Amino acid sequence: MALERTFSIIKPDATRRNLTGAINAKFEEAGLRIVAQKRIHMTKAQAGKFYEVHQERPFYDELCEFMSSAPVVVQVLEGEDAIAKNREIMGATNPADAAPGTVRAEFAESVGENSVHGSDAPETAAQEIAYFFSGIELVG
Ligand code: UDP
Ligand code: MG
Repeated sequence: MALERTFSIIKPDATRRNLTGAINAKFEEAGLRIVAQKRIHMTKAQAGKFYEVHQERPFYDELCEFMSSAPVVVQVLEGEDAIAKNREIMGATNPADAAPGTVRAEFAESVGENSVHGSDAPETAAQEIAYFFSGIELVG
């Protein structure tokens, strides 16, 4: 295992319900360190670029509307095996399938409004971090 960084978003359904601290507590309790974090309100075009890998999927337009509907918290999480560890803390995409104790099991409202995003591989983590943060903003 190596020290890794992954990219995370606390989504609009969670910021609306004032869950930023509760979700961050789960990351920190599991040993991930928040090494960069900011609250932003994306335009639909910015959300569309971020999710462009999904542009052919039927839920793409609704997803981009949702992600630009309210502020989000974008963050970089660091730790041993951070990418896989964060996916475990998040739980399955659909909260109905998410393991007990995961963020999505506890907080997600639906498969679309599912409280958190987390990178799925080292390449996407690097790309996603670079989309939102400059090097000087990453403070390990
Ligand atoms: N999504 C959706 N409907 C679906 C599948 C996904 O609205 O049937 C949304 C959901 O917000 C999800 C995001 O699209 O988090 C990206 O999908 P992905 O398959 O990458 O899931 P994730 O990596 O977030 O678990
Ligand atoms: Mg994904």
